[in-house]
Amino acid sequence: ATPTAVMSGTGLAAKNGIIVKNALVLEQGQKIQTIFFDKTGTITTGDFLLSSFTGSDNEMQILASLEAKSKHPLAQSLSLERLSEITDFSETFTSLLEVSDFTEIAGRGVSGTINGEKYFAGNAKLMADIHAKVPETSDTVVYLAQENEFIATATFTSEIKAGTKAVITELRARGIKTVMLTGDNLASAKKNQAEVELDEVQANLTPEEKAKIVSQTENSMMVGDGINDTIAMAAATVSVAMASGSDIAMEAGDVTIIGNSLGKIPTVLDISHLTIRKIR
Ligand code: ADP
Ligand code: MG
Repeated sequence: ATPTAVMSGTGLAAKNGIIVKNALVLEQGQKIQTIFFDKTGTITTGDFLLSSFTGSDNEMQILASLEAKSKHPLAQSLSLERLSEITDFSETFTSLLEVSDFTEIAGRGVSGTINGEKYFAGNAKLMADIHAKVPETSDTVVYLAQENEFIATATFTSEIKAGTKAVITELRARGIKTVMLTGDNLASAKKNQAEVELDEVQANLTPEEKAKIVSQTENSMMVGDGINDTIAMAAATVSVAMASGSDIAMEAGDVTIIGNSLGKIPTVLDISHLTIRKIR
């Protein structure tokens, strides 16, 4: 590779809000055949809104207290501040309970002890792990259980990022297969898939399972928010992190996209093609 072509490719990318951290991307980008997208924060805005809770006020307080210790987008939507914005939940409680033995279980949820009782909050996989029987759902939910007894379901809505469908359509026109990988349940993921017309969706995945799928695919790109997708990103030929706000320096990935716009993915491919043309 001629250094000048690579340097001008990197410069062109930077002008487009794309930080190329690994210059090999400029050579490998034009080979990409499959693009994997994480769901939360990549296809969706990463902002969840609590729409219903089947338990009591006290159970909501227990759930919020557990989730206050997690940085997951679902957990953040249960902060006191966010709850206070929702009329149905705004006056139920104003403080959190003390949590000990807090544990975060990647791709599953959280656990902790409150007033001597052990609680779990997370998805169907976590509930299966602890042998708690839960109602089936086609929504994004967090189940709350005490020991191995299911207590209540919190249901959330989320929004697809503006312009996502156009990007998927554009990638398809270029002959690239698009796949969404998610830890969320299949029914919920399928609704998102239908909305933006992704070619494929794989759900109920742990971060490790996402990485395995990516590593088994040649000429792959993995696009994630870099928060809990780092191992899947490392398994891809090229990895792209969507940066929102101030955490740009922390982002993993060969490429970082400033401003969180998926519309920059085709631009990354274009710049790679241009760079390769100059090299040859
Ligand atoms: P995604 O593929 O949507 O980005 P993640 O890998 O971030 O998903 O998480 C996978 C799933 O694990 C989530 O959809 C959620 O069901 C569950 N989960 C992860 N962290 C938490 C948490 N703090 N509280 C409840 N559930 C969680
Ligand atoms: Mg994620």
